[in-house]
Amino acid sequence: MAIAAHELIDLTDQDWRAHGKCSETDPDLWFAVGAREHKAAKVICRTCPVKDACLAYAMDAPVDHGIWGGLTERERRRYRRQAGVSGWRSVLASQG
Ligand code: SF4
Repeated sequence: MAIAAHELIDLTDQDWRAHGKCSETDPDLWFAVGAREHKAAKVICRTCPVKDACLAYAMDAPVDHGIWGGLTERERRRYRRQAGVSGWRSVLASQG
């Protein structure tokens, strides 16, 4: 999951949302609580052309509910905790 450390996200620019693969299907899948639904949503996120922008938005906002950028809220919280002062982008970049 490579996100350039220098990448700056303009939180007011949400044009990327119109290009998300989730806009082509039932959005409830991204906010369901079951593991099966999480897995199905993440499979779709994996091939989404705006995955990095989506994840950056959810991490920076921060957004606490749903799957964004292919990560559950629990996974995003874990990356934020791990990141500390170095920032979440460096943690995700180190994951490969
Ligand atoms: S990464 Fe996933 S949640 Fe984000 S826009 Fe794409 S399909 Fe939707």
